[in-house]
Amino acid sequence: MRSLSLFGATGSVGQSTLDLVRHDAASWQVSVLTAHSDVAGLAALAREFQVKLAVIADPSRYDELVAALAGTGIEVAAGPDALVDAAKHPVDLVVAAIVGIAGLAPTMAALEAGHNVALANKESLVSSGALMMQAARASGATILPIDSEHNAIFQCLTGSSLEDVRRIILTASGGPFRTKSAAEMAVMTPAQAVAHPNWSMGAKISVDSATMMNKGLELIEAHHLFPIGLEKIEILVHPQSVIHSLVEYRDRSTLAQLGSPDMRIPIASAMAWPRRMHAPCQPLDLTRIGRLDFEAPDEQRFPATALCRAAISEGGGRPAQLNAANEIAVAAFLAGKIGFTAIVDLVKHVMDHESPVAPTSLHDIFMVDAASRQHAQILMDAHAHG
Ligand code: NAD
Ligand code: MG
Repeated sequence: MRSLSLFGATGSVGQSTLDLVRHDAASWQVSVLTAHSDVAGLAALAREFQVKLAVIADPSRYDELVAALAGTGIEVAAGPDALVDAAKHPVDLVVAAIVGIAGLAPTMAALEAGHNVALANKESLVSSGALMMQAARASGATILPIDSEHNAIFQCLTGSSLEDVRRIILTASGGPFRTKSAAEMAVMTPAQAVAHPNWSMGAKISVDSATMMNKGLELIEAHHLFPIGLEKIEILVHPQSVIHSLVEYRDRSTLAQLGSPDMRIPIASAMAWPRRMHAPCQPLDLTRIGRLDFEAPDEQRFPATALCRAAISEGGGRPAQLNAANEIAVAAFLAGKIGFTAIVDLVKHVMDHESPVAPTSLHDIFMVDAASRQHAQILMDAHAHG
């Protein structure tokens, strides 16, 4: 029996994680579950998995959660500080599946406590990669990537040394607008942007996939997780999402990890590491798939990956700034306030007009994050009124 805490239980990755637990209930004790504001959803899961602690991030929902779990003996807490405390709860594995910078503080707390972290929350690594990797090294914690590409690379690196890696190739589906012109993209709606051809995911990452910002964030993620040098990490568009990434070694041997596009496969790989567990997923049927296609990324139509490469090359506060502006822009797009191509334009504008301080602490990261959000918001307000 292994114990786990799951941050972001009500989300897409959270649901996939709990589905794996349901299929192997005898092996797992779920100790902590958290959610942002869905009290009913969190309470139902807390009861089902008989957890020790349920945390709702929105502090105004505390009383509601207390009432929903009355008589169960389940401990209840609320607010961002409670999330950080919950991350220190003694468990064998912490699954970090909150979306956005909101996941950073609890993920850092888990790493500092020495817990192995199965990491889906890419925004934390993008904003604060150096500090997170340092925290993991200091405490002896292992970061097990859940993001399918990074999980694929992690698997392809098993038993090998990073010194022998010549190249990492991050695959990208290209998203729902892969074949659209810039003019067509400018009028795409939130509903069209979240309709990903291969993967079913939360709204924010779906929009990031459509702009290709997701692949840029993943480039930054890969740079921290697999430090072989940015120039050795390439992006390859592969519309079928069957090959999840590749590692080329210096002897020109190239290893790939393949699987159906189902997040439960990389999540199972991280959960069971270094062993394997059963995952109730479709086997890969290559005869049915028939062919695998590849193309070079088009950074004219999709400038987000170049922005991300520039941000991580410069380093310092740039990636945190980029991430924060992107979170604001995606939220505004989803709310119908800005157009699709304005997302990346806004991020670029913030980066062009403000130089963030070089962060040396989590506090500094939050300062850069807040300044960038504010800047992005002011730009949008000016645009709306101008
Ligand atoms: P989602 O929107 O479906 O779920 C997000 C979860 O985070 C929910 O449980 C929500 O309650 C919680 N949350 C949101 N805002 C919060 C806040 N302010 N404080 C505390 N909790 C909050 O998102 P998702 O698609 O499951 O993605 C989660 C993370 O995993 C993201 O970083 C995403 O980039 C990454 N990821 C997701 C997938 C996927 O297939 N969905 C694949 C790769 C990586
Ligand atoms: Mg991914």
